[in-house]
Amino acid sequence: MLNTEQIRKDFPILSRTVYGKPLVYLDNAATTQKPVCVVDKITEGYYHTNANVHRGVHFLSQEATDAHEAARRKVQTFIHAASPAEIIFTRGTTEAINLVASSFGGAFFEDGDEVILSEMEHHANIVPWQLLQHRRKIKLRVIPVLENGELDMEAYRSLFNERTRFVSVCHMSNVLGTVNPVKELVGIAHRHQVPVLIDGAQSVPHLPVDVQSLDADFYVFSAHKIYGPTGIGVLYGKEKWLGQMPPYQGGGEMIAHVSFEHTTYNELPYKFEAGTPDYIGTTALAEALGYVSAAGLSRIAEHEQFLLRYATEQLLAIDGLRIYGTAREKGAVISFNVKDIHHYDMGMLLDKLGVAVRTGHHCAQPLMRRFGIEGTVRASFALYNTQEEIDVFVAALKRVVAMF
Ligand code: PLP
Repeated sequence: MLNTEQIRKDFPILSRTVYGKPLVYLDNAATTQKPVCVVDKITEGYYHTNANVHRGVHFLSQEATDAHEAARRKVQTFIHAASPAEIIFTRGTTEAINLVASSFGGAFFEDGDEVILSEMEHHANIVPWQLLQHRRKIKLRVIPVLENGELDMEAYRSLFNERTRFVSVCHMSNVLGTVNPVKELVGIAHRHQVPVLIDGAQSVPHLPVDVQSLDADFYVFSAHKIYGPTGIGVLYGKEKWLGQMPPYQGGGEMIAHVSFEHTTYNELPYKFEAGTPDYIGTTALAEALGYVSAAGLSRIAEHEQFLLRYATEQLLAIDGLRIYGTAREKGAVISFNVKDIHHYDMGMLLDKLGVAVRTGHHCAQPLMRRFGIEGTVRASFALYNTQEEIDVFVAALKRVVAMF
């Protein structure tokens, strides 16, 4: 069992008030709050070890480089990658997907090739592929989402043909909470010799991830959704792919030799890390991963699943409330609407009662279209949320609904 009382002490922001009410923070799928140890790591980095990494001969630069590279190894072990060379630091999930679409797609796709996405993708896993369409006339094929929020696996199988070059799907939906059978998705694609990118933005904070066991070709996530800082994220890629892919951006760090006639590139992972990296951010990310490991991913999952079940039960008791996403495998996210009350109005009124939820399309407009809606209210839970907070949330929602 997680000791949430103790855990909450690690997150000072949770004890603040909004509009004179205790804050109930249920917007964790957008970003999580940060524990003291992560914020301290950032402060300590700037106060004690700040120096630009790599190439520096002096003491501080060496210390900063060691911490930065230790962070890379921490990420490697956290997601069970085979080598630190397969861990590329990016600004986040979005940049990681853009990198793969641009570099892999630009190098290996030809006009008429096809990429399979799903109907539940975040815009970050749709638009980079559309941008690529300006360079290659690729076709996007879409796996439909069933009424319960699961992927239509039969339809997925039928999308493959001789022009299929890539599959890019999320591990867990930020709207429906659906945890996709990614190992099966990868297995099917590999039988067609098609590589797969898994968008792990929502899964990494909630589920143990083993990229080798999943046999993922690429796996991406953002630090800020797993109690780490903003502006840093990870692209995992199999060395066999990264080695063949051209650089995404040019500049310092990613070069071996530069002349006006010819430039050669650095080895992995630096080939994909142009410019000064966010070395303070990487060490803070490693700290966050350490925090999660110490709490225990299985304990976190157990706690969040309890909150999910409890909140679902309580919400369904509200007349006219519909939950979008009832998949058998589901993470701690609940999207809902109540009758024809506008999601925005519910969100705004909940806010006045101290409850922070997200409203809108959640950067998943095609999914909204699938369900014939413009948006939902979304409550999403993290390791520090409590049963009492859900009671406050549900009571507040009942008050809000009664106003209409
Ligand atoms: N993919 C999914 C499933 C997400 O939920 C998000 C963020 O909400 C993203 C991608 C984009 O993440 P970021 O904005 O951190 O790059």
